[in-house]
Amino acid sequence: MKQSKKQLTKILGEIDNKSYPAYKQLKGSYDMTDFVLIIEHVQGDPFASPSMVSVEVPSVKANFPKNLYDNEEKKVALEDLLLRQFSGELRKYSFQAKGSGKSGFMGAVMPGPEILKRTGCEISGDGTVRVRFEAGFPANGRRINSRELEKMLVQLLPKVVLHSLYYDKTKERQCMQSAQLAEDQKFIREELKKRNLVAFVANGAILPRESGVSSRPMKNAVTFQSPKSLEITLQLPNRGEMKGMGIPQGITMIVGGGFHGKSTLLKALEVGVYNHVAGDGREYVITDDSAVKLRAEDGRSIQKVDISMFINNLPNGKDTSCFSTEDASGSTSQAANVVEAMEAGSHLFLVDEDTSATNFMIRDELMQKVVHSNMEPITPFSLRVRQLYKKVQISTILVAGSSGSYFYEADHIIQMKEYQPEDITEMAKSVAQEFASLEHENKAMENEKVPEPFIPDFSKPRIWLKKADMRDRVKMKVMGRDSISINKETIDLRYVEQLVDTGQLAGLANIVWFIRVHFLAEDMSMTEMVNRIEELLNTSVFEKICAGKVPGNLTVPRKQEIFECLNRWRGE
Ligand code: ADP
Ligand code: MG
Repeated sequence: MKQSKKQLTKILGEIDNKSYPAYKQLKGSYDMTDFVLIIEHVQGDPFASPSMVSVEVPSVKANFPKNLYDNEEKKVALEDLLLRQFSGELRKYSFQAKGSGKSGFMGAVMPGPEILKRTGCEISGDGTVRVRFEAGFPANGRRINSRELEKMLVQLLPKVVLHSLYYDKTKERQCMQSAQLAEDQKFIREELKKRNLVAFVANGAILPRESGVSSRPMKNAVTFQSPKSLEITLQLPNRGEMKGMGIPQGITMIVGGGFHGKSTLLKALEVGVYNHVAGDGREYVITDDSAVKLRAEDGRSIQKVDISMFINNLPNGKDTSCFSTEDASGSTSQAANVVEAMEAGSHLFLVDEDTSATNFMIRDELMQKVVHSNMEPITPFSLRVRQLYKKVQISTILVAGSSGSYFYEADHIIQMKEYQPEDITEMAKSVAQEFASLEHENKAMENEKVPEPFIPDFSKPRIWLKKADMRDRVKMKVMGRDSISINKETIDLRYVEQLVDTGQLAGLANIVWFIRVHFLAEDMSMTEMVNRIEELLNTSVFEKICAGKVPGNLTVPRKQEIFECLNRWRGE
């Protein structure tokens, strides 16, 4: 039941100067004439996390033309744009109301360059706009100062809403541009599939960032220019003709001297699973959205993963077809990362030699002769990469600065030279052939002799966590971009490199907890669990997963990151 604005001011008048918990009475919805104010959760004291508040603008007031949100991509782009505007506007008024602790704070999530589905702003099918934010309800000491809260909610907030959430002439252009960009990005994603490509990098794209800690484009960077042999032309619905490099399915190797821009290209491809805002420089860098970055991750826990296609005959006699460890080595961790990415439905692996375990990536012949007998436990990735493509259609893009082993396997070899790509496939192949015959053995033929891998069976349940009780109180915390903790257990996500913002981590914490409460007892495979989560997210975003109490700081993660997060949950 909605109360009136008058009732809000009346309650505010009554609780002034009372002790802080009296604020709890405010929970509820209020009709503020131009929008609905919803006070969802009231903080316990002025120093605790701020209260959860949302604003709902009915479609007749918000008035956004239907064609700005008539498909999922456009809708997400509009939500993203409105959240940026609301958040920017709200920031101007934060702490204008005064008091102790967090009194007067007002803040909503400010998205980075990636356009992602977030709980901060949601547009429903009929065009109702809802934004969620945090507000520090003011106090003097621990006594309520409700006049200051009235200032926040009745005076300041309507200005913010008016400037950011209503459609008018000033927004027309920007809204249209973001919808058109979303349409073009969607078109490129679809085109990748039609043309059997795994990635597109537009000519003119700016890949490097300003610095290692910034997500802004580098000024005066060398812009991307495709080699002629890989150049394709697309007819985008809005932008029109666009040329750029199309990376075909199969195995692509990126080589080149140190500091020539290899990792920068790979990094851009990693985040190309997401759409980027105009002006980012990577808005037309689009990667197969199931792509997973694979790296070594010493020390991670591995639970019941079949890594036998890479590792066998361990010295301690451990079974590698159902491998668990609390402290993985470089090679076992990377093997698990590969197999888990297969389970997560990835069709593109992205690997950088710099962050890989050498003994996982290649087998060194000389070392083999000197040290190992015929009991080498590792079948390196170089001997599996072709089979993975042939058998399960998983492509690989690999940065290799120092090892030539992959020349024999690669379909395309791109050399980065002073930040510009060159197609050197033919030259590299012929040199590699000569080199192999000099060595008295044909590497490529040798590789053919490696037994086909046994592709793990992912339909079996793989459970190692104890089911949690729904009534258990849960305490979740997000430690920046690095990890989450759930009831004192930490899940380390530092090396899950395609996580780009803390909202994804907050979303993951809620999701994996939901899985632990609801799905674990059932005999479900990991794939089934994650599919069910995806269905829930598609129908009600986080509404079901958070049991109706949705915070404004959650971002919907990809399916692949849900797998990666579950896989890193050690469980006591
Ligand atoms: P590599 O992996 O080949 O050693 P990196 O990709 O790490 O090289 O790039 C080395 C440096 O060059 C980084 O500081 C990066 O920001 C910068 N850089 C990369 N691409 C460009 C570019 N297109 N224009 C200007 N600088 C670039
Ligand atoms: Mg590098």
